[in-house]
Amino acid sequence: MADLSPLLKRLMDLESDVAYRRAAAPGEESWRYIPGRVTVLLSAPHAAAHCRNGRLKEEDEYTAALARFVGEQTGAHVLYARRRLDHDPNYDRHSPYKEHLREIIRSAGIRFILDLHGASDRHDFGIELGTMRGQSCEGQLELILAALAEQGFTPDGKGLGRLELNGRFTGGGGVRQETITRYVWETLKTPAVQMELNSRSRVVYRAPQKPGGTPYCGDAQWIERTALAITGVVRALAG
Ligand SMILES: [Zn+2]
Repeated sequence: MADLSPLLKRLMDLESDVAYRRAAAPGEESWRYIPGRVTVLLSAPHAAAHCRNGRLKEEDEYTAALARFVGEQTGAHVLYARRRLDHDPNYDRHSPYKEHLREIIRSAGIRFILDLHGASDRHDFGIELGTMRGQSCEGQLELILAALAEQGFTPDGKGLGRLELNGRFTGGGGVRQETITRYVWETLKTPAVQMELNSRSRVVYRAPQKPGGTPYCGDAQWIERTALAITGVVRALAG
């Protein structure tokens, strides 16, 4: 891994705080809040494994690292899961993660939430935005699209450069699912967007599943673009 850029090395470093499958030991935080100095908050509720309807779901790798990296660059607040959760903050209505988020929004005067998630590399987009079909960030969408386009993510882009809008992940959830985006927008009246990131433009390094297997490494250039694109979005929103 000697040829990694400083940005990718930093992402690996930041990601190492997360133990994907381990429950918090006594005294350990299951999720962590890093205060910022602008009115935008980056959330990564699936950064570690979590339980939905009693079933363990895999972590959205590198969403913690990306949230923290962008926080360092922009002064955004960051909230991210760092140990296995016994619930799903992006599904369950009653969630201590959501309660913490609500407290932070109130006490820090947060005006926009960017909720980061991971999509598998079977999807034909680099980034998908879930805006509840435009409702959850009507006033900010143009700024967000312009910032993403600066790093090469556009609706008519090809491969990882393609930006999907409200395709499979609308951010709205459904009757049984209360997403972070829906909760923040409908209950807290704060604009929000759900951002799904393709694993090829997100995962710097994933250890082999079995001994002797091959590690998974995303596309270095597109991972950097993702980090810079989210940085640009936060700067535009905070500006
Ligand atoms: Zn997720």
